[in-house]
This record gives sequence, structure tokens and C-alpha cells, in this order.
Amino acid sequence: MADAPRTAAAGTAAGSIERCPSCAYDLSGRSSERCPECGAEISAARAAAARRALRRRRIWSAAMVLFVAYAPYAWILFVDEPWNAYRRLWLARWPIMPMMLGTHILLPATPNWAKLAAAGAGTALILALAIALAWRSGRWLAGVATVVLGLSALNALGLYAAFRM
Ligand SMILES: [Zn+2]
Repeated sequence: MADAPRTAAAGTAAGSIERCPSCAYDLSGRSSERCPECGAEISAARAAAARRALRRRRIWSAAMVLFVAYAPYAWILFVDEPWNAYRRLWLARWPIMPMMLGTHILLPATPNWAKLAAAGAGTALILALAIALAWRSGRWLAGVATVVLGLSALNALGLYAAFRM
């Protein structure tokens, strides 16, 4: 027990890991290829742990981008208006709202069904791009989330004005 701090420090040295990623057995101070507890190959277990961490980070980043992209349109739920067909129509268009105003401006003389299709495709494209950028790093996620939140808030205000017209 007296030398625990020293071995813990050795466990954090480059090329070694403190705990088996498979069974969490304490590996500090060991340099063997396999975990003595569960027999997991350390480099393979480490690679699997890295893949799991990457997958978690990507799911979290995508969820974050989608949340800031769609949350500003939550006014549809809270606005003091009757729950009539008009409001339900707007609610149904929540998924394509990020590009609804944009397609109305860019494609003014287009039939309504084509505008909706373009808004859907544009939204999917823009969100896929934002998520791909957010996956690059934590700093990219923070930057992308900030920009998306700002644009979505402005867009949500515009759509709210259109809703009340
Ligand atoms: Zn193990």
C-alpha cells in the first residue's frame, strides 16, 4: 500500500493503461500483453475502448447539434393560440423548419409541394454538414453548436412572425 501512489503514476506513463478496459482490473505497473484477470489482449481492448469512446462522442455531438437546431422552434408548442388545423400543420413541419424560410425566399415561384421537398432536402443536407463538422473535435462542436443555435433562433423568429401573419 505504501508504494500505491508510485505505481499509479507508473500506470499513467505513455504506453500503459491503469485499468483493463474490458474488466477494469488494476493494471498499473504491468507491461504484459494480456490482462491477468480476464485475459483480454490489452492493445485490442484499448482499441475497442477508443472506438466506444468515439461512438459515444459522435452520438452526443449529433444529439447536441440536432437539439440546438430544433429547440428554437418550440414556440409552436407554447404560443398562446388555439390547437387548430393551422397550428397542427405548422407542428408537422417542425422537422423541415430549418430551411422552410430559406426555400420560400430562394424559390418564390415554386409549387408548394416542391418547396416542402426542397426544405426537407436542404435541412437534411445542412444538418448532416453541421454534424460532420461537429465530429471533428470538441472545439468544433462548440463552434458549430453556437452558430446553429444563433441561426436557428433568428430563423425561428422569422417563422413565428410568418405564423402570426
Ligand atoms: Zn481484464
